[in-house]
Formats: sequence, C-alpha cells, structure tokens
Amino acid sequence: MAKVTPMMQQYLQIKEQYDDCILFFRIGDFYEMFFDDAKIASRELELVLTGKDCGLEERAPMCGIPYHAADSYISKLIEKGHKVAICEQMEDPALAKGIVKRDIIKVITPGTVTDTNMLDEKRNNYIMCIYKNGEWYGISYCDISTGEFHASEFKHNGEQKVFDEIARLYPSEIIYNTQFKNNEKMLKRINDRFNISHSQYDDTYFEYNACIKKVNDQFKNIDKKMTLTSGICACGALLCYIEETQKTSLLHINTLNIYSADDFMVLDMATRRNLELTETIRTQSKKGSLLWIIDRTVTAMGARMMRRWVDEPLVHRESIEYRLDAVEELYNNVYVREFLREKLKGIYDIERLIGKIVYGNINARDLVSLKQSIASLPAIKECIAECKSSMLMNLKTGIDILDDVYDLIDKSITDNPPMSVKDGLIIKDGYNETIDKLRSASRDGKDWIAKLEEKEREVTGIKSLKVGYNKVFGYYIEITRSNLNLVPEDRYIRKQTLANSERYITPELKEMESTILGAEEKVVQLEYEVFCGIRDTISKQIERIQKTAYAISNLDVLCSLSTAALENDYVKPVFADNGSISIKDGRHPVVEKTLSGGMFVPNDTYLDNGKDRISIITGPNMAGKSTYMRQVALIVIMAQIGSFVPAKSAEIGIVDRIFTRIGASDDLSAGQSTFMVEMSEVAYILKNATSESLILLDEVGRGTSTFDGLSIAWAVVEYISDKSKIGAKTLFATHYHELTELEGRIEGIKNYRISVKEHGDDIIFLRKIVRGGADQSYGIQVAKLAGLPEEVIKKAKEIISKLESSDIIKIKSADDEAAVESSDEDYKQLDFFSFGGNDIINELRKIEVDNTTPMEALNILDRLVKKAKSKN
Ligand code: ATP
Repeated sequence: MAKVTPMMQQYLQIKEQYDDCILFFRIGDFYEMFFDDAKIASRELELVLTGKDCGLEERAPMCGIPYHAADSYISKLIEKGHKVAICEQMEDPALAKGIVKRDIIKVITPGTVTDTNMLDEKRNNYIMCIYKNGEWYGISYCDISTGEFHASEFKHNGEQKVFDEIARLYPSEIIYNTQFKNNEKMLKRINDRFNISHSQYDDTYFEYNACIKKVNDQFKNIDKKMTLTSGICACGALLCYIEETQKTSLLHINTLNIYSADDFMVLDMATRRNLELTETIRTQSKKGSLLWIIDRTVTAMGARMMRRWVDEPLVHRESIEYRLDAVEELYNNVYVREFLREKLKGIYDIERLIGKIVYGNINARDLVSLKQSIASLPAIKECIAECKSSMLMNLKTGIDILDDVYDLIDKSITDNPPMSVKDGLIIKDGYNETIDKLRSASRDGKDWIAKLEEKEREVTGIKSLKVGYNKVFGYYIEITRSNLNLVPEDRYIRKQTLANSERYITPELKEMESTILGAEEKVVQLEYEVFCGIRDTISKQIERIQKTAYAISNLDVLCSLSTAALENDYVKPVFADNGSISIKDGRHPVVEKTLSGGMFVPNDTYLDNGKDRISIITGPNMAGKSTYMRQVALIVIMAQIGSFVPAKSAEIGIVDRIFTRIGASDDLSAGQSTFMVEMSEVAYILKNATSESLILLDEVGRGTSTFDGLSIAWAVVEYISDKSKIGAKTLFATHYHELTELEGRIEGIKNYRISVKEHGDDIIFLRKIVRGGADQSYGIQVAKLAGLPEEVIKKAKEIISKLESSDIIKIKSADDEAAVESSDEDYKQLDFFSFGGNDIINELRKIEVDNTTPMEALNILDRLVKKAKSKN
C-alpha cells in the first residue's frame, strides 16, 4: 500500500483527534482542507475543489483559503452548524528542521464563538449541557463571550422542563451524555422544533467526582452546602468542553448561578411564539414584537439583559416589586433618567471586552473603548447616589469606578491606536523608558537624515539632490542625470539606475539607517510586549469589571422600561394575592403602535379564581378576539417582568405559567396536520396547567367537523373549569355560540362578546368587549370586507337564508344522526341540540349508574330533557 507523505501523516494524526470538526490546516499563508473536509468546505463555501499529491494513488481532494480571510469563512461554516478546528504552524517554517510542528490552537463551534464579528451584540450566545441520569436532568449553560454560567436540575416532569429551558434560552449548541442521547423521542422533538446544533459528549466528562472538583476549582462562589448533583455533572462537563475548545484559562467564568426553573414563569415554545415576545411569527424579526416596544436600552449589554428579562418573567412578588419600584423611581425622576441614558450611551460592551482580554484577542482600540466606558462611571454612580429604591441603591454599590484601570490605560495606550497590536504606535510616550529611548534614537536618526539632504546639496553643489526611502533599498541619495558629473565618486556608492536619475548610498547613511530601522523594529516588538503586560494587569481586575458591567446592564434595562412606560403611557401594575386579574382600559402594546393615533380601543378584563375563572369570548371574525386575549397575556407578562403596563390600572394576580393555543404552528413542517397539532397543544395544556396558570384558547376545535369540534371545545372548557382538575383562569375565544350555554351551568364561566354594529348590509367593528354572548357570526360581511367577489357573496347570502329556514334539515335516519343530506340547496349545519330521538336512547344506554355522581346525573337529565323538548 502506498505510504502517505510525512506532512499528510501529520495531518491525518491531528484530524483523527478532531474527526467531528472541519480541520483548517495552516500551510504558509493558507489554511488547507483535505479529503471529506475539503468536499464539505468547497460545497458550503463555494471554493474550488482541487487535489494534492499525498503519497496515495489518488490525489487528496483539497481546497484552501488565505489565512487573513479565515474569519468570514469560519463564521459561514459555524452558521451552517459545523465545527472548525484551527491547526497552526507552531514554529517558523524557515527555521524548522523537517516537517513544521503544528497543533490545534482553538476549536470553534456554534456555542463557543468568541469573535465579536460573528456574534449578535444584542443577544447572548449560549452553549448548553444536559446530563440525564435516570429521572434526573442536570442542566448548565454558559455564554463564553461574557462569562455568565448557570446551572439547575429537575426531576419531576424533567423532560418537559428541559424542553422549556431550551425554548427559553435558545442555545446555539447543546452537548449531552449517552443517556440523554438514547432518548430518541426527545432528540426528535428538539430536531423538529429548533434549529440547534447538538452532539453527544463523552460520558467520562460527566463523572461526578471529577466534575465537583472542576466546579470548585473554577468558581469562587461555591457554597459548601450546595445541593446540586446532576447539575454539577452538567457543569463539569461543560467546563471541560469549553476548555477543550478554547485552549486557554477561563478567568472570566468565575461565578456559578444556581437557579430553579420555578423562579420564572413557564412559557412553552408555542406560547413564546404566539405572543411574539422577542420576534414576530411572520418574519421572525424583532420589529413588531414585545421586545421591540419595550427595549429602549442604549448599550449592547443592556439589550442582552432586556431580552433575558422578557424571556424569563418572574413569579415571586418580592423580586418583581424590587424591579418595579426602581422603574417607578426612574419614571418619576426625569433628570436622573435622562442623565443616565445620556451617560450610558458612552459605554461599550464591557462584558465582551473582558472576554477578549481572557482569550487574548483584545487590541489597543478595545482598551481605549474600555477606558472611555470607565470614564462615564463616576457620573453614573453619583447620579443614582440619592435614589431610594432598593434596586437602584444596590446597583450603586455594584458600580466600581475602576479608576486604577482607567489610569493604567490612560497613561499607557495612545488615544487613537491602530487595529493591530503588532505594528507599534500603541504605547504612549513617557510610559516605558526603553520604548522612549528607542523612539528618540529613531527620531534623532530621521532628523540627521533630514539635515543630510541640505548638507550634501551644499557640499556637492547639486540643488536637486534628494534623500529618499523605499522598502527594498532603504535610504538613498538621488541625483538627476544632468548632475551626474558633480557626484563625489569617492564617497557615493551607486545602488540603482533609473531612467532619469541614479541612486547612491554612503556608508554613514547606511549606518544611520540600520540604527533607525533597528530601533523601530525593537520598538514595535517591545510595544507588543508592554501591551500584553497591560492586558494581563487588567485581567486581574476582571471580577470588579464584571460586577460593574452587570450593574450597568441592569441600570440600562431599568431606564429602558421607564422610558417605554413614559413614552407609551403605561401604568405601574399592582399585585393581588387573591389571584385575580383586574385590568382597566387595557391595550395591546404592539397593535396600539401599529394603528394610527388613538384608534386602538381599550378594554377591561376581570378574571379570578372563583366566579370569573373562564371568559367565553364570542364575536365575528376580525372583531379583535385574538388581539384582546394576547393583550391580557402580554400585560401579565410585562407586569411580571417588572415593567409598567398599557392600561389605566392593572391589578395582577401572579401567574405561574401562560399557555396559548392560537393560530397555526411551526409543527406543520414536522409532518403533523393542523388538527393534530392543535390537539397535541391542547393535550399539553390540560396536562400541565395549574390553578395559578393563565390559559388562552383561540377557536379550539375549529380544525375538524363542527360536531367534533364543538364537542371537544365543550369538554375542554368543562375540564379546565373543574377546580379538582385545573381551575385555571382562561380566555376562550370561539365561533361556537353554543358554548355560551355554559354560563350558569358551570360555575366560573362568564360570556363576553366583542361588539359590532350593523350598518345596512355591512358591519362596523366597535372593538369593545361587553358582557353576554354573540348570536351572529357575520362571516359573510367580513368576507365581503376581505374582497370576495360580489357574485360569491350574493350566493352565500342566498344559501344562508335557506339554511336558516329549518324545513330544509333532513336527517336521513335516526341511527345515522350525524349524516345530513347535502345537496346544493338542501343542507344545514346541524344544531347541537337537535339530535334525533335515538341518540337520547343511546345516551341512556351509555350511562353507568354506579359510576355517576348525583351532580353528573342531574346534568345528564337536564341535557336529555332539553334534547327531548327541542325535538318537539
Ligand atoms: P378571527 O376570528 O378572524 O381570528 P379576531 O376576532 O381574532 O379575528 P383579531 O385578529 O384580534 O380579530 O383583530 C383583527 C384586527 O382588528 C387587528 O389586526 C387589529 O388591527 C384590529 N383590532 C383588534 N383589536 C382592536 C382594538 N381593541 N382596537 C382597534 N383595533 C383593533
């Protein structure tokens, strides 16, 4: 068998250890890829696929990219879910004996990107680790660009909780142990719903003893009484993974935040989507979402934190009020708020600058940005010094004005340094004696050369004599052809002949040149070393800087919420302990913005855990049912985030979860039908809702035949209303007017309708919610508004008027009660209460008297009597 070349042997050895990555193999000024990697990269990056002799019979497929352009290629591969391992030459090829030593310096995966050009500055980039051990699930997640690290664990309903966490955090990468991988159903669910790169990580990394040691070594705040077990395994494995990819110490990952999923409102994926919390359903853009309305942050750090707040509304009254009181104080204090916002604008992304310090890719410009940010801190701290709310007082304490870091950068780094740290001009004069000396040697030399021109002109009498410089020949004296006879041949040495002139050097000129160039080279090298020293000194202050960055992000979010409250005329919500939700003149925060001035009609809401648990909302299409339901959910979410809300007044009983079943779903792409998706979402709600939850159901049952749909909707309402089963506060929008029959029959149900006014043949939407059920659908009028052809509208009207005359109902046989003869002019949607006689007998047959409570029996009797009467 043919033997591969030594270089290819080296390649294959390295590739073997990183077989799940695309290997960027540095050869000179290029990164080359070989074999399958080359095929993948050439396809994904549109590169030409060539070949390289590698000792084998066939040339190895190969493609390459210039090293200086690597970043954009890497980011494309990462976006497409690949991992990239960077293999560098570890010695100077000119000095190497034999094959140049090469090694992996970094592995880049979707969750471990640190290059700020590849990251969205307004959202965190999380990597998540899941450890499954029997019924237990341990979870950890980290944004390695900022250093935040969190962990938790769950047992009861663990799988669902893990799934909810994925929906909340939307990590860009997930790693897990074998047990988790073996849950194929779960992996399929993740694949169906999310576009996240995920892979198994070796089980040895999850071993408890090694993990607890790793966690203790990494984090300074570990409490001896810490109770996490599975969570620790997830933390330890994640730390190993990050170390393996970054190949550097992780100084900025120093605080472990252990959380409980019960600290946040549970919002499943469909609900986040339906309520358009951070992006719209249609375009997946922030514009048009709740975040778009309330995010008025001015720093990248604040924007990331704002998104986190929206993604995780709180459930403990104290922590909500802690935020709200601060928002209120800033809302009321225009001077403090505006001053803060102005000052915050000058603050750069300190969190990610710290990340760059740790990963060694910070440059002098970044340090100047850090200095400029620090410059705003004293004024910010002073500005909130008089604030009274606990959160603002604590934030003031959290801000360290970092004057030592400021002074260090100020006296050492030039004010306008170049991008590269290897080209000099980054260290200020007066900071380092050696640099100063070398610079003055170079400056003196240049002065000497400047004077040389004048001196030589005098000595030689050549007025046009010039001293010049180029990279190939260095300094030279240039004499035009007409003056060549005046050249002092004994002193000048000819170096280059041009068309109209000759270039000369002298020994003394060359000596000065080497002094100047030597000094310049040394300065550049020394400046880099001094810069690294400054960077390392600052890295020792990372925790202080991080604390300050955290306080600044919080301040930015509080200012943002108070600004949004003021600009949009929001009110501070209060919280009710009895679980009731009472909103006066509530508005939809986004829809009101999309309608021109004052067009939005505010509405009241009252829900509680007693007589007003369930609102059945009827009204024509387009009346505003979905908007109303969403508005209630958004007001509750905003309140629990700590925001003011769009209403005249709002008293909110804190909810533990919000569930929604509204509109179509993404899952259609996962091979399920509309009805199937709808039913699985309803099943999920019925299984998971509690009496503290808020449920929004929009037209449940519409995806199937009228009878089936109505029956399901009816049964669902009954089930939710039952306190022994759920008893949750619910808004139920429906076109089945029959459901309004439930008010009075089932405790806790109230009918509402969104009012419209008839105007001749048309209807006018009043958008006002009022008590009572609607009796008409006005579907044809809405269809007319939507622009259906006149002819179709006319025909529809004819049909409906026929349907409304009962004599056209024809039930073929009593046994086949659902079958209706349907001909052009001879059919009707069956009225739920107009069954034939046989169904009464059938229903009687089904009753199991032994298993029927007196109350149920009474209900059945009531129903049968009504049926019998309606038959007459
Ligand atoms: P369908 O039953 O067809 O789904 P719907 O009753 O759920 O309709 P929505 O989708 O909520 O109706 O509202 C339709 C439109 O009415 C919205 O796009 C919005 O522009 C407008 N609208 C809704 N509520 C209000 C309101 N309170 N004030 C002003 N306009 C409103």
